[in-house]
Amino acid sequence: MRAAVVSEDKQKLVEVKDITLRPLESGEALVDVEYCGVCHTDLHVAKGDFGDVTGRVLGHEGVGIVKEIASDVTNVKVGDRVSIAWFYKGCGACEYCITGNETYCRDVKNAGYSVDGAMAEQCIVNAKYAVKVPEALDPQKATSITCAGVTTYKAIKIANIEPGEWIAIYGVGGLGNLAIQYAKHVFNAKVIAVDINDDKLALAKEVGADLTLNSKDVDSGEWIQQQTGGAHAAVVTAVSKVAFNQAVNCVRPASKIVAVGLPPETMDLDIIKTVLDGIEVVGSLVGTRKDLEEALMFGAEKKVDPVVQTRKLDEVAEIFKEMEEGKIQGRMVIDMKAV
Ligand SMILES: [Zn+2]
Ligand SMILES: [Zn+2]
Repeated sequence: MRAAVVSEDKQKLVEVKDITLRPLESGEALVDVEYCGVCHTDLHVAKGDFGDVTGRVLGHEGVGIVKEIASDVTNVKVGDRVSIAWFYKGCGACEYCITGNETYCRDVKNAGYSVDGAMAEQCIVNAKYAVKVPEALDPQKATSITCAGVTTYKAIKIANIEPGEWIAIYGVGGLGNLAIQYAKHVFNAKVIAVDINDDKLALAKEVGADLTLNSKDVDSGEWIQQQTGGAHAAVVTAVSKVAFNQAVNCVRPASKIVAVGLPPETMDLDIIKTVLDGIEVVGSLVGTRKDLEEALMFGAEKKVDPVVQTRKLDEVAEIFKEMEEGKIQGRMVIDMKAV
C-alpha cells in the first residue's frame, strides 16, 4: 500500500512509498483510510524537530472505515468510520490514564510520530482508542476535528467559560478559527478574535466573532479591557510570545489563560497581577477520546464547520512546501482514493 513517509532526504522531507503493513495484533483494527489532513505538526515531525523518525508513516488527522478487527476487539466493528488522531494510545493504567488526563500519559504513543500514522491507504489502530466518527459528519471535515477541533474544544472547556461571558481567542488561523466556532456556537460565549492578519480576522467575523482586533499596532490587553471590562478567559493559539503576554493583560480577575500555541520562548508573567487578580495560566494538550467524541458530535450538528480542501497523496511533498512557505488557507486534506 502507498504511504507518505518521512524521507531520508531532509530537503524533500516527505515521500510516497510502497510499504507492507504488519499483521494485526490483539486489540487492533485495520482501517482503510479515506482522508487525512496535513498539519504543521507533520512538518515538525518530518523535519526531525522532535527527533529523527525517518521512514515513519506520517499523519494524525485520519478518518477511515474499519476493514478488519483482531478476534478480541468488541468496541468497533467492520464498516465503522473511525478517526486516527495524534493521541494514538496511552498505557491505560497510569494515574493520568485513569483520571481523565490520558493525553499526559508518560507512555503515550502519537500517530504519525511514535507509531505509523494515517497518511496512507491503510492504517493499524488500537481499537480502544479509535473514536467513532458520526454518520452525519462529512469525513473530510472530520479530519480537522481530530486535531484542531478537539484541541480548541478542550482548551475552551478548560477555560470554564459560561454562556454570555467574553472569551478572547489569540491567533485565529486554523486552530483559532475553530476555537471561535466552538466558543460561540457550543459554549454560547461572546468572542473577541485577536490576530495580526486582516484576512484571518475577516474570516473570524464570518464564523461568529463578536469583536475583532488587529493587534499589530494596538495593545490588545488595554483595548479588550476598555471594550468589555476584561475578558472572562483567553485561549492563546498564536505562536508568539507577544500574544501570550497581551492575553494576561486582557482578562478580568479570577479568570484563566489557556495556552495552546507552542512558541519556543518563555512568557512574561506579571506576578503582582497574577496574585492580586487571581489569574490562572494553564496549558492544554489536544484532548481525550471523550473530548474528541464530543467535538465530533458538535461537528455533526453543524455547530462547527472546518474549511477544508482535498488533494492527492502524490501532492504531499508539494503541500509540505506550501505549508513551509505559509501559503495555505484552511486545511489541506489528502483524499486517499484520488489518483
Ligand atoms: Zn494536526
Ligand atoms: Zn498512561
